[in-house]
Amino acid sequence: MPNASEQRPYLVLENFIGGKFIPSLSHIDSYDPSIGEVYCRVPDSGKEEVEAAVAAAKEAFPDWSARSPEQRAQVLNKLADLLEAHLEELAQAESRDQGKTVTFARTVDIPRSAYNFRFFASSLLHHTTDCSQMDHMGCLNYTVRCPVGVAGLISPWNLPLYLLTWKIAPAIATGNTVVAKPSEMTSVTAWMMCKLMQQAGVPPGVVNIVFGTGPRAGDALVGHPDVPLVSFTGSTATAQRITERSAPYCKKLSLELGGKNPAIIFADANLDQCIETTVRSSFSNQGEICLCTSRIYVERSIYSEFLERFVAAAKKWKTGVPSDPSNNNGALISKEHLEKVRSFIALAKSEGGVVHCGEGVDQLELPERNAKGYFMPATVISGISDSSRVMQEEIFGPVTCVSPFDTEDEAISKGNGVRYGLGATVWSRDVGKVHRVARRIQAGMVWTNCWLVRDLNLPFGGMKNSGVGREGGKDSYHFFTEVKTITIKH
Ligand code: NAD
Repeated sequence: MPNASEQRPYLVLENFIGGKFIPSLSHIDSYDPSIGEVYCRVPDSGKEEVEAAVAAAKEAFPDWSARSPEQRAQVLNKLADLLEAHLEELAQAESRDQGKTVTFARTVDIPRSAYNFRFFASSLLHHTTDCSQMDHMGCLNYTVRCPVGVAGLISPWNLPLYLLTWKIAPAIATGNTVVAKPSEMTSVTAWMMCKLMQQAGVPPGVVNIVFGTGPRAGDALVGHPDVPLVSFTGSTATAQRITERSAPYCKKLSLELGGKNPAIIFADANLDQCIETTVRSSFSNQGEICLCTSRIYVERSIYSEFLERFVAAAKKWKTGVPSDPSNNNGALISKEHLEKVRSFIALAKSEGGVVHCGEGVDQLELPERNAKGYFMPATVISGISDSSRVMQEEIFGPVTCVSPFDTEDEAISKGNGVRYGLGATVWSRDVGKVHRVARRIQAGMVWTNCWLVRDLNLPFGGMKNSGVGREGGKDSYHFFTEVKTITIKH
């Protein structure tokens, strides 16, 4: 595997096309967010590289798609074994590239990346197609499913290898070949995985990875006429551009986008469990998870008690050097992102909001080496109106807002009062209430008395501006295949 801890002036990545590493002539700087310095150079690919990658994927398609599901599953399982064998190197690299703690990368990102391959290797073997009989017409109808062709896969920077493999695994399990473009800010673990794909016996051209920016490499991929399907995870604004760009080709699109996820907490909730989980759901991975809680609505009779206990718990959520196992959070992805998140806190203050802890209240103690890193402590705000941009827009950082409600209807209306509809949590011991509220909340995933429990068999995706389509078990199988209905008349 390429060595990500190499101490040359910079780590220099290469594209992976047709099973080979191809050096690039131009590069983009990539930063280590915990020290605020460039440490890696990522290929600045454009049309030419995407063209070569799509050609390699097209060439590999006939053989790969003709293999049996069992043969493909074997390759996926081998890749999962190799990812697990290299877990520590990959976790260290993911942490350095993204800013997250090594502990998070070691326990969440990398194990889940390996599991994505294992899950789809197995799930692939268990799908069935449909059949119906029309005896009065002498007809039998049945469906077959075929891979679509070359899949274009575009992923974001928050869970780099985890979200990339969530797309590559089902795409190749179902017989497609792939051109993938990871985020230009976090390309290292995808590049490291290329070597493992060679070792796992992924045939040349089945997975091609082209590194570069969205407007150049991403745009060339989305606009390529020989890429009939695009699976995208990222921001709603980029998804709108991708939708326009792909419209002339009528491409199959799956869009997994941003969120502004509410937690609705009723007075009869188990507060110990609720506070512990809501701190985690608000701040995990520096709040850089699309499913992080960013609006907490609390029934007025417990509002003061909740706020006091929640702030005390948030103050214990430690932020600092990513390699220190006692830290819960590391650094945010970039200087620009840190400034964007800070600007929301400034806006909240200018609107009369109260910042209870975190940015501007608690001082982080960082070693000299990390003084220029992009760190921000877990921040809790109250006193903001629902119409504020702070309550309406995705902040995507370690910031959450708390606000009271009086009735069930009001809680639902507040929860639904944004353009997003990705995730939500509901907290109550009353099963009927939990069920009623979960039914009425506009979100693709509702967790009651828990957060982020995932069965990969079940659909994942968002409503409203949070996405189009669903992925996961059967939904990924459907998205990455074309269905055909065949009628036989005797
Ligand atoms: P982004 O939209 O800026 O970038 C995502 C990817 O798209 C990157 O690889 C980028 O290079 C590429 N891209 C940018 N412009 C493009 C273009 N014009 N054409 C093609 N590709 C282009 O998002 P981000 O800042 O990397 O990620 C954060 C966002 O992702 C947040 O909004 C977050 O909520 C969302 N997200 C959603 C999910 C989900 O499953 N719903 C999961 C993780 C992150």
